[in-house]
Amino acid sequence: MAVPKRRTSKQRKRKRRTHFKLNMPGMVVCDNCGEMKLAHRVCKECGHYKGREVLNKSESTEDAPE
Ligand SMILES: [Zn+2]
Repeated sequence: MAVPKRRTSKQRKRKRRTHFKLNMPGMVVCDNCGEMKLAHRVCKECGHYKGREVLNKSESTEDAPE
């Protein structure tokens, strides 16, 4: 099995670790309300998806299929 010849220096280790960072997975800004939401999901703030209302929140502007 391969064994490292040199101990990884602090600088090298830290430079490598600059590439893995905490990230919010698939968060995008909602087109309707500007809140952060999960991508490809209905916004839980305003209930909109792809520019139209999907979930009935307090405001009901367009046609509400009942
Ligand atoms: Zn929204």
